[in-house]
This record gives sequence, structure tokens and C-alpha cells, in this order.
Amino acid sequence: MNKRKKRLVILGSTGSIGQSTLDVIRRFRDRYGVVGLAAGRNSGLLARQVEEFQPEIVAVESEKQAGELRRNLGRSRVRILCGEAGYEEIASVATADMVVSAITGIAGLKPTLAALRKGKDLALANKESMVVAGDLIRKIAARTGSRIIPVDSEHSGVFQCLRGRDKKFIKKVYLTASGGPFLRVPLEELSTKTLAEALRHPRWKMGQKVTIDSATMMNKGLELVEARWLFNLRPDQLGVLVHPQSIVHALVEFLDGSVLAQLSQTDMRIPIQYALSYPERLESPLPSLDLAEVRSLEFFPVDEQRFPLFGLARKALAAGLSFPVVLNAANEVSVQAFLEEKISFGQIFEIVSYCLNHHQPRALAELDDILAVDRESRGQAQLYLKKMKGNIT
Ligand code: MG
Repeated sequence: MNKRKKRLVILGSTGSIGQSTLDVIRRFRDRYGVVGLAAGRNSGLLARQVEEFQPEIVAVESEKQAGELRRNLGRSRVRILCGEAGYEEIASVATADMVVSAITGIAGLKPTLAALRKGKDLALANKESMVVAGDLIRKIAARTGSRIIPVDSEHSGVFQCLRGRDKKFIKKVYLTASGGPFLRVPLEELSTKTLAEALRHPRWKMGQKVTIDSATMMNKGLELVEARWLFNLRPDQLGVLVHPQSIVHALVEFLDGSVLAQLSQTDMRIPIQYALSYPERLESPLPSLDLAEVRSLEFFPVDEQRFPLFGLARKALAAGLSFPVVLNAANEVSVQAFLEEKISFGQIFEIVSYCLNHHQPRALAELDDILAVDRESRGQAQLYLKKMKGNIT
């Protein structure tokens, strides 16, 4: 093949999406080259990835991590950057064609913006960036000509259904939700579910943050906001269907009553591979989807009594302004506290709801405005956490 390799930077290479991305690249070494890898604290795994994929440049969280990585790497000539500035530099490195943005949480925002400002194509897995800064991201991409290709399975599904169609014919877009581990547990048991139970997702193997978000269904709420900006839709054009089999990822209904759906096996390597190869398609290592074996596909509405965080997300989407930033910040703080077993499952809702109810909404034009609201809401969530702790002891 005489085509030049597509050169990639992977932000979050040691996370679940990052590792799956490298898995895809492993199968297509003649098509993809890795110029940069960015990770947080897992310098052992990062060192192995550097040895295998030979990037020019890597970025880690701190000097301490950089030192650890250097020791792990021995005589490697790779350039090591660190901290926030390091992540931004690697995301905008001149030799990259595409940046895979897979850092979890708002930490992924600045490097994502840096990639877009340089006109890089973006394979977007970091949904929180779109949730807090969707409007800004759209504007920057429009100015620089960056193409944003979603990695999230549902958004990849919508993206594929919309290829070659005119947006004006769309009536409604549906994302599907597996329902997570608590779809059928009795309602009265829900608020005391343990961390181990919440981490046991029935369909998808994912990072911890998104797995907890799936158990509360906040994940689907965040995905609605993400879809609003990715596809430039009105909030009332977006819906969710619970679909426990996770075979149909998204559906698009057109004005004339036709509905297109995207189906595939439940494996993140499929949407990741599509984002890398778009607009082409490459052969998958997975067996074909066998619908005769699956036999039945079920769909239900979302029960907002069971998943009240989804209800909050839907309201934040409809209200717009700074509400989605508060939603995301309060959720990140509470999920972290739940992962550290400082609060109960039910208290995630309590904190997010408190922060949204006490927020004075405003319009957000610039990154600084967004970051200010994010900081404020995190502070408020932390304060509420402390108060809760005070009540327990
Ligand atoms: Mg998803």
C-alpha cells in the first residue's frame, strides 16, 4: 500500500478506550502510526506502550510520573512532557493528523480544544468536553476545519445513520441505554447499592467513572447533551430508549416516518475503528453479528423514578446555559466520592440535585466562564460532601 500512514496522538492511552484504540492500531500497523501517547499515573503500562508503538512524544501528569517513566524506559529517546501544558502540547503536535481524545472528565477539555485549534481531526471519546463546552467546540472546529468523529458507541451510531442525509429531514434521534446493573433491582434497595455492585456492568467493559455513570444513568444524560452539540439538534429532538441487549446503539427517525438504526456487537473496538478509518471501513476481527442468535431486541422508556439523575440531566439539557456544566462538575465530584466509598449510591443524586438547585444560571461564551462555573460547582459539591460527613459523625 502506498498510502501514507495516518499519524495519531492518543490522549488517555492507558484507560479503557486508549487500550482498545491501541488494540485496533495493532491490527492495522500499515495504516496507522502513533506519534504521541498521553496518560495519567499508570507509568508501567505507558512504558510498555511506548516500547511497542515507539511514539516521538509522551505526556504524563507530573514530574514524579515523568521520572518514573524515564526509569521504566531505560535508554528510550522519547520526549516526555508533563502536566496540563504537556497535554495541550502533545494534542497540538505538528506531526499528528488525528487526536483520539479519551481522557475522562473535564481534564480532557483543554487538550481537546488545543487539538481543534490546530485543525486536527478529532476522534472524540471524552463526552464531558462536549457537555460543558459543546458550543465553543463547534465554533472552533468550524473555524479551523477540524472534523469531529464520535467514538461513543451511540454517537457513532447516529453519525453513521446521518451520513449523506440532510439534517432538515430529521425528526428525532434516539440513543439507547443498556440500563446498567440496576435496571431490575427493587427500587427500595437502590440507594444502598455498593461500589462493587455498581461496577458490575452487564454489557460493556469500561472505565470506572463511566461504569458508575451507567449505573445511575447519568451517562445517558451526559450523552444527550453531547449529541445536542455533536449533531446540532434541539433538546426536544433527542430521546433515549432502554435496550438491555445493547445491539442497537442509535436510531434516527426522519420526517416521513422512516427510522434508520445502527446495530453492532457490543464492543468498543467497532466504533473506535470506524472513527479512525472514517470515511472508509476496515475489516473487523470480531465475528458477524448474528441476529438469529440474539433473537429478540427489547426497548423500554426510561423510568426516571429509578434513574433520577437521568431526569436531572434531561432538565439541565432543556434549560441550557450553565446548567450542564454544573451537572457535570457535581457529578464528577460525587462519583469520585462514591468510588472512594465516602458516600452511598443514593447520595450521588442528592449532591448533584443540590448543586443544580442552588445555581444561578448564566450564559457561557468563553472557556474562562465555563471553567469558573466548573470550579464553583465543584466547591459547592465538596462543601455539601463535608456537611454530609459532619452529619454522619
Ligand atoms: Mg456510550
